[in-house]
Amino acid sequence: MPGTCAAGRVDAAGPTDPVPVGPGVDDWRPRDIDLAGLITDLQSRGVRFEAGSDSVETRRGGAGPSDSGMLWIEGVPVTLPAGGAATTPYVLRREDDGLAVYAEGRRMASASSGGRPRYYDLTTADGVPYWQIALLHLDSLASTVLQTCAYWGNDDQCQFCGIGLSLSAGRTTAKKRPEQLAEVAVAAKELDGAVDATLTTGSTYGRDRGALYVAQCGQAVKEAAGLPVEVQFEPPVDLDVINRVRDHGIDSVGIHVETFDPAVLARIAPAKARTGIEGYFEAWERAVSLFGAGQVSTYVILGMGEDPALTVAGCKRAVDMGVYPFIVPLRPIAGSLMEDCLPPDAGYTESIYRQVVPYLLARGLSTAGVAAGCARCQACSAMATVERSITLTATHR
Ligand code: SF4
Repeated sequence: MPGTCAAGRVDAAGPTDPVPVGPGVDDWRPRDIDLAGLITDLQSRGVRFEAGSDSVETRRGGAGPSDSGMLWIEGVPVTLPAGGAATTPYVLRREDDGLAVYAEGRRMASASSGGRPRYYDLTTADGVPYWQIALLHLDSLASTVLQTCAYWGNDDQCQFCGIGLSLSAGRTTAKKRPEQLAEVAVAAKELDGAVDATLTTGSTYGRDRGALYVAQCGQAVKEAAGLPVEVQFEPPVDLDVINRVRDHGIDSVGIHVETFDPAVLARIAPAKARTGIEGYFEAWERAVSLFGAGQVSTYVILGMGEDPALTVAGCKRAVDMGVYPFIVPLRPIAGSLMEDCLPPDAGYTESIYRQVVPYLLARGLSTAGVAAGCARCQACSAMATVERSITLTATHR
């Protein structure tokens, strides 16, 4: 089943105005752009690693949108399309005292890489390398606790997802046990300074869709390492499951609708479409009542052919109920059904950020208020950098 990219979108109403897809190269010139603009552009175009800079940690495969190089740019955590497209103007270059991003010979920003985490050299008593149990994404410990999904390999597979790829490549294990995750979390905190844990899971056929197992894993991590924990799962059939997730002491939850455009959801993630966007709002309402405003988030992926107006309206409705819409550009994963697609144009992505972030701030939601997880880390989006630029501008007025 081939994936369908944004440019190919045709729905019942006929061809829609295309979302700008794929960064152009001919018109690109180095220019003065602010940090939010630079990060947005880097996440659209990618960066090539020059010799000497290729020790940057990368993540391949995994649940949801992934395939990343991980860097700090001007001190801001950022994930980028791994390896970078051949056409990108950006290169990561080694300097005497670190790394820097260059474009056509011009230095754009300083960069640094955390290097290989020290806990990656450890193994469990039964011989499993720690890095196969959980990876360090900059300063967040991350694991897909069930590396299988009820939808993988059939017509329901989410087109952007790569959950089965790292498993089939032998880079991870199918099921991580709570005690294994606890052991790794202690090491990641003590040796490498992990500040939180982000645990996700493939969906199961059960009525909880895997939520209770990932919550059990989260509780083990929290009790052993004392880290705040986000767990991510699909809306359970029985919403009371979310109460039980809270009973495990979890700090934040991610329940990911992926897009607010129902036509795109049906095309890209058919199983999620059966839950329906209203089904997500019902799950979020329950979750916010238990975890509090700002501790419930959803991924919103840009660049899949979505209607921008529906996207912004959906994000604002989510914000109104206390949900943090974590907006990210599509990052096509090699081997996924969307591997031939391109990330969206940076101008489009930034325009969505700049409509939603002020709305978040006006309603008292901020990345600083998120206890754990993707919306706390922010490395896959430039939302936090946009937030900082808005806050700074307001302060200096
Ligand atoms: S529900 Fe979709 S995104 Fe999540 S693991 Fe399954 S296929 Fe991947």
